[in-house]
Amino acid sequence: MKLTILGATGSIGVSTLDVVARHPERFEVVALTGHRQVEVLAEQCRRFRPAYAVVGAADDALRLARMLRDAGLATEVLHGAEALVQVASLPEVDAVMAAIVGAAGLSPTLAAARAGKRVLLANKEALVMAGAVFMSEARQAGALLLPIDSEHNAVFQSMPHNYAGDMARGAVRRILLTASGGPFRNTPLAALTEVTPEQAVAHPNWVMGRKISVDSATMMNKGLEVIEAHWLFNAPADSIEVVIHPQSVIHSLVDYADGSVLAQLGNPDMRTPIAHALAWPERIDSGVAPLDLFAVAQLNFERPDLARFPCLDLAYRALRAEGNAAAVLNAANEIAVSAFLDRRLSFLGIADLIAATLDAVPQAAVPDLAAVLEADRQGRAAALDILSRMS
Ligand code: NAD
Ligand code: MG
Repeated sequence: MKLTILGATGSIGVSTLDVVARHPERFEVVALTGHRQVEVLAEQCRRFRPAYAVVGAADDALRLARMLRDAGLATEVLHGAEALVQVASLPEVDAVMAAIVGAAGLSPTLAAARAGKRVLLANKEALVMAGAVFMSEARQAGALLLPIDSEHNAVFQSMPHNYAGDMARGAVRRILLTASGGPFRNTPLAALTEVTPEQAVAHPNWVMGRKISVDSATMMNKGLEVIEAHWLFNAPADSIEVVIHPQSVIHSLVDYADGSVLAQLGNPDMRTPIAHALAWPERIDSGVAPLDLFAVAQLNFERPDLARFPCLDLAYRALRAEGNAAAVLNAANEIAVSAFLDRRLSFLGIADLIAATLDAVPQAAVPDLAAVLEADRQGRAAALDILSRMS
């Protein structure tokens, strides 16, 4: 199978290459992309010898090209947003790992779907922003969408065989998304005003990029995942429930009409869903250690506290509001998280900024990509404007 890995230098990208390296007979890397981490990307190119490598900026492309030439590689180095779209839709590529973080991943991920590729979808923001457009384009092009997000991968594995988006037909009652609750599950509410970026990115169970780590701390990550589940499985908001499960061993569950509840379990290591999606419908070694239930000993469950995690509530509201609301929510969240990481916004200010942005941007329909990008632009502009008045 020939692969393009978008976001190869990130947490998911590195885990993907780890699985790929275990199966050289099975996978060939055609293209790797990174944004600014030229050294990491150069090292990955030396190891996997792709035909193409893509970075963000022209000067980084020159630097990378020189490094690869010196290493005796014939890798063609490209740069910019168009190049991401190009390597996501190369005719010789079978599967695209979509692991760019945030809205920047939308266009290349959509391009892979339009080109009818097997799309390994880690970039949840693409579905949150453009769910309707994305799903309809993927269907038309015959693209196979395989979720990488551990919860959605677990749901995919627990859904009826050949599930095609009809919950009633599959006798599926509910989708239960598990959440760890992040680092602040038990922090006294009064102390949340003071938490720092360092505390927020220190996730108890998963090692991830900075943006998704902050999203996990606010539980906006779970909110985005509720929206993602809605689109992937054609599930109404009322049939998607969030369950806090601090051990992160059950990755999600599906509740059936007969009372059966199917779940997927495993150690919290993204190489499991990555290997699942790479090899589906087969199974391959991922390098993940076998689950030791005696070491886990206990599986606990709690109802999420929406006063503690207002972002989760905001995401449900945006999903129910339909139209541009989810794209605006996502845009405001990206602005808020980056302001928090830069210490320009408090932790609790993240939810306030998103709520105010949702109130500020008028409702609109999003029938096509242009409308989605416009909603994203409006959300960012409104969030930046509100932020400037908050601080
Ligand atoms: P990360 O920050 O570790 O990596 C992000 C990647 O995107 C890097 O390769 C970076 O170079 C690239 N990138 C960043 N900005 C870019 C831009 N403007 N243009 C092009 N490329 C850009 O993030 P991650 O944790 O690997 O997450 C990637 C995606 O996967 C996110 O959408 C995240 O929500 C999702 N995801 C991650 C995990 C996880 O365990 N890390 C789990 C589930 C879902
Ligand atoms: Mg997840």
